[in-house]
Amino acid sequence: MRILVFALFLSATSLHTFAQTQPKLVVGIVVDQMRMDYIYRYWDKYSENGFKKLMNEGFTCKNAHYNYIPTYTGPGHASIFTGATPMNHGIIANDWFDKASDKSLYCVSDSLAKSVGTNNEQGKMSPSHLLAPTLGDAFKISTQFRGKSIGVSIKDRAAILPAGHSADAAYWMDFETGNFITSNHYMNSLPKWASRFNSEKHADELAKEGWQTLLAIEKYTESTEDNTPYEKVYNKNGYPVFPYDLPQLIKDKSYYAFANSPYGNTIVRQFAEQAIINEDLGDDEFIDLLTISFSSPDIIGHAFGPQSIEIEDTYIRLDLEVAQLIASLNERIGKENYTLFLTADHAAAQVPSYLKDHKIPTNYFETDRFLEELKAHLNSSLGQGRWLLNYSNQQIFLNHALIASKNLETDLVLDEIKTFALSFKGVANALSSSQLQHPLPSDQFAFMAQRGWNPLRSGDMVIQFLAGWMEYGHQGTTHGSSYNYDSHVPIIFYGFGINQGVELEPVEITQIAPTISIVTSTAFPMLSDHRPISKAIIQP
Ligand SMILES: [Zn+2]
Repeated sequence: MRILVFALFLSATSLHTFAQTQPKLVVGIVVDQMRMDYIYRYWDKYSENGFKKLMNEGFTCKNAHYNYIPTYTGPGHASIFTGATPMNHGIIANDWFDKASDKSLYCVSDSLAKSVGTNNEQGKMSPSHLLAPTLGDAFKISTQFRGKSIGVSIKDRAAILPAGHSADAAYWMDFETGNFITSNHYMNSLPKWASRFNSEKHADELAKEGWQTLLAIEKYTESTEDNTPYEKVYNKNGYPVFPYDLPQLIKDKSYYAFANSPYGNTIVRQFAEQAIINEDLGDDEFIDLLTISFSSPDIIGHAFGPQSIEIEDTYIRLDLEVAQLIASLNERIGKENYTLFLTADHAAAQVPSYLKDHKIPTNYFETDRFLEELKAHLNSSLGQGRWLLNYSNQQIFLNHALIASKNLETDLVLDEIKTFALSFKGVANALSSSQLQHPLPSDQFAFMAQRGWNPLRSGDMVIQFLAGWMEYGHQGTTHGSSYNYDSHVPIIFYGFGINQGVELEPVEITQIAPTISIVTSTAFPMLSDHRPISKAIIQP
């Protein structure tokens, strides 16, 4: 009896004991343009130690979606790591029309910044346009800035936005030299290990044999044949087919051609491993963040589309990079000492011309004709004038000075535009800024447009295309819409503090940040969503 009482006492006290523990390192992996169905479609081709290991030992959200538009790279990375949407973090697109300067602005451009590691302007970047702190900033504050935050990617925006404002470093590729560079927002010269890595010319070494398929080409049964009219052509022979002569393509088109191959993922993984070793990530009691964004799948996806052998080969090889990274982390840091998550910054549409040939209704939106006819319509109904200052990211920016000088109501002009837009082929809906600032009916487009609309930066009207329609050339594909094909991405957690399991209920992309905050016992990033994915977290 005494033993039983003692045991009850023990279990009762353990119920009230909170463990203030945290991992030493968080690794946030973003695969640019990864659709959830790439997990299913290529499953039999994956190794046991990459995606399958993360899913078998970790926690997978099978029904995770973006909760705003546009579904682009800059906003995607900002939203994953701030736990907020463009409405609050301000990264409303990759490039947007800046109302104050009447010019287009790039999401991580910084005219005051200086390049570090290159003589050209590709390093004039910083997170200055990001209006919210990230997980990296939250970790920094929680450790009196003794923990480290480092971002690595091919694309500047995919390295800079995740790592945060107070990051130690963000490294991205200079397409002129193939080197990893940074800006003086972080440091005044590259660390020795990064300069050494650059001097070893890994891009040239990886590219020298060209891009061949990893498996025999007839094994790519989850894709169309190699030569289709739905893909962009880079080869001199005029066909979108293997092999790709990378050394020649690099000579002709810069290292962007290297990034348009799976070796772009290899070099990012190699550089990230060097960062772990040389920056002692996960080595002390101050929690560190390493963000690794694989940009090449997006560049390849835009060129060849989701049904191509090029994309299948990219994911079979990416699985091996993920396996290598997990092996390195487990060996150096130990699985019990780090938490990893893997997600995507957006997904992608099927190539419209491909679906159209299979009788599925899709098409290409004629932007130039739309704008021409819209301007003519406004000139005839309201009088001659430059009524539109800009159209970008499916948003219309009105000339408010002209509207005021003519003593017109803005809503009247917007009603004219909406009536015209709804009569134009391919338009599904159009919402005005005033509609986006009021409670809306529970329509998915309205919900996502509202969360993507920032009062300081966004336009006066957002246009929605019909499902399957896009503004793009007839080869390759893009993304940006509110539809499932652009919003549905994987979210997988693995390692310290993570349950084994699956979530089938809908999850929103902004729930990653608070989940990591809870797992790491740190404060939420300032503007973060406060709905962690509870089932993923081991309860203390
Ligand atoms: Zn893209």
